[in-house]
Amino acid sequence: MTREDLLDLNDVLQYPGRQAAVDVTTELPDEPDLDLIEPLQGFIEAVSTGSMLLITGEFKTKVVLPCSRCHEDLELEIKFEIDEQFSVEGVPSSLTSQDYARVVADEPYPLFQENSLMVEALLRQMLLLAFPLQPLCSGSWDIPCPTDSGRAVPAGSLRDNFGALAALRQKAELAQEEKPE
Ligand SMILES: [Zn+2]
Repeated sequence: MTREDLLDLNDVLQYPGRQAAVDVTTELPDEPDLDLIEPLQGFIEAVSTGSMLLITGEFKTKVVLPCSRCHEDLELEIKFEIDEQFSVEGVPSSLTSQDYARVVADEPYPLFQENSLMVEALLRQMLLLAFPLQPLCSGSWDIPCPTDSGRAVPAGSLRDNFGALAALRQKAELAQEEKPE
């Protein structure tokens, strides 16, 4: 069985210190439940210390999620970083002809096929973790959803708005007073 999203890290594992870096763009086609409006885009870097495989990266995408309160669809930009470590067993083949380094698969669901990373499985997991728990179209539980009033007042600015309005009014009055009649 082969998967298109497998990233072969055998070279990295057999040569500790050697780095692999790949750019990745995916729509996560195996995840029909995820409503991506932009492909997931970013990069993955991998390096082995000999006993640990370190995988880092940065990704971003845009998704549609329902508002937790009014259930309007929300477009949200999601960004996340990857900073994962996996145990490695065996001696890298660059150091011995008797053995080779292998990723220890101890995840609750498979992320590796032998020494290849299942990129989409990892990205799916990281993306779900990066989702806001309670997305709100107003951005805060203190501010109502704009469903009935057209537009919500931005967070914390109600008083500021009144202040600004008062200042404007004062200015206008001053301007009127200064007008020569
Ligand atoms: Zn809402």
